[in-house]
Amino acid sequence: MGIEANLMRLREEMGAACRRAGRPEDAVALMAVSKVHPVELLLEAYAAGQRLFGENRVQEFGEKAALLTGLDVEMHLIGPLQSNKTGRAAELFAAVDTVDSLKVAQRLNAAAGALRKKLPVLIEVKLSPEESKHGIAPEELPGLLETLAGLESLSINGLMTVPPWSEDAELARPYFQRLRRLRDEQQRVCSTLVELSMGMSGDFGVAIEEGSTCVRVGTAVFGRRQKSLSAT
Ligand SMILES: *Cc1c(COP(=O)(O)O)cnc(C)c1O
Repeated sequence: MGIEANLMRLREEMGAACRRAGRPEDAVALMAVSKVHPVELLLEAYAAGQRLFGENRVQEFGEKAALLTGLDVEMHLIGPLQSNKTGRAAELFAAVDTVDSLKVAQRLNAAAGALRKKLPVLIEVKLSPEESKHGIAPEELPGLLETLAGLESLSINGLMTVPPWSEDAELARPYFQRLRRLRDEQQRVCSTLVELSMGMSGDFGVAIEEGSTCVRVGTAVFGRRQKSLSAT
């Protein structure tokens, strides 16, 4: 199946999920997750009209970015960010969707300020105890949001989460519901907290039913990923 056909099918399935949930069909953005894939596949999606992309490594995207100059792509970082790469990340990405510590937020804020830009970010929340998962604990969210309110070069636009992997999308539903509740509660403190980045190839329909505003879809757009070799 080609990338264009995959994108079309996904848009239909997203539309169906919006209708099930009684939400307008343009309520959910489709982010094509191009990590690990060669830039040619990203360009194929671009030719099919896709503009919003997610990459999970600063260095990997740095190499691809040189081949995308002049294109109207909106690229988000959706992988963990080490504080020594915040400067490069602020330069390369239109948004960072995985802020999960005050230190990273402060460094991103300084880097964005130096570039004279306001950088949109999401806070990644860890809703399950798995060791491999990134994100801040939900209990720490209110305190973090309060501190981040003072960072003038960041725009705190919403929350993001990755539930534990499962074959059964229904098992992800409680995590999506929890993220939405957190957003609704914290909106009183942080009025810009609107976005909910949740849902991937296996569970985006459920995520849309639970209020996702952006689904991050890799496999269902580009096919299976080869295991990545580098560990940066
Ligand atoms: C890789 C990745 C995705 C896409 O996953 P698929 O299952 O291939 O759709 C989404 N979100 C994050 C944070 C990822 O790292």
